[in-house]
Amino acid sequence: MKTTLTIRKGMLILLGMAFLIPAMRGENKQIISSFPVKHIKINELTFANFFTDTLPSRHCRIDSLPSEALSFGERQALIYMREEEYLACDVYTTLSKLYAKPIFSNISYSESRHTDLIQSLLEKYKIEDPAANHETGKFTNPRLQFLYNKLVENGAMSLLDGLIAGATIEDLDIFDLKNYLNSIDNQDIILVFNSLMRASRNHMRAFNNNIVSMDDKYTPQYLTQDEFNTIIEGQQERGSANIK
Ligand code: ZN
Ligand code: ZN
Repeated sequence: MKTTLTIRKGMLILLGMAFLIPAMRGENKQIISSFPVKHIKINELTFANFFTDTLPSRHCRIDSLPSEALSFGERQALIYMREEEYLACDVYTTLSKLYAKPIFSNISYSESRHTDLIQSLLEKYKIEDPAANHETGKFTNPRLQFLYNKLVENGAMSLLDGLIAGATIEDLDIFDLKNYLNSIDNQDIILVFNSLMRASRNHMRAFNNNIVSMDDKYTPQYLTQDEFNTIIEGQQERGSANIK
């Protein structure tokens, strides 16, 4: 009996190694595609980062969905969200230079993938990219420019203010995506916006946990208190990772 158990244990370990070694070499694309290996060193990664990058990959799922006629509202939503994802990316990049907490650089990478996803939709529908020559902190949309300036100014005051700026961005992101989704019926936009919203809920939980660990709390400014509570009480979401 004991011998059988030991053999089984041994087989499990071997199986585990067979799975892990190719993954570490980058051969297991299903696992590795979630890791931003090119831009961030492995030791800077956190599990939170792994779980938040569960987005449809740029050129497979989106391109396999039909290209449906876009309404004016859908066009506007894409144009706006392209820069709103850059807003998140740029604020976190700027704050990552002020604070050593890895949350800013980890999430800024995730946001750069979000804006790339929207860009692929702009390309698919041949819509002019408002961020074609994007420079960090420069926005075509005046509201987003105002928000960038304000969030960086506030976030630079202290680490806690930086984390609150982060929660504010995720609050706004979820609020805007949710509103846009009410009037969108294109399958590819719905797929992307739902993925972005899921990532934003994970980001919101991450910022909120950091704020709570500093004995403070975030008060939602866009979402209702109930919507916010439901999000932070929820678990980390993996969503439909590695959609092919
Ligand atoms: Zn995002
Ligand atoms: Zn986010």
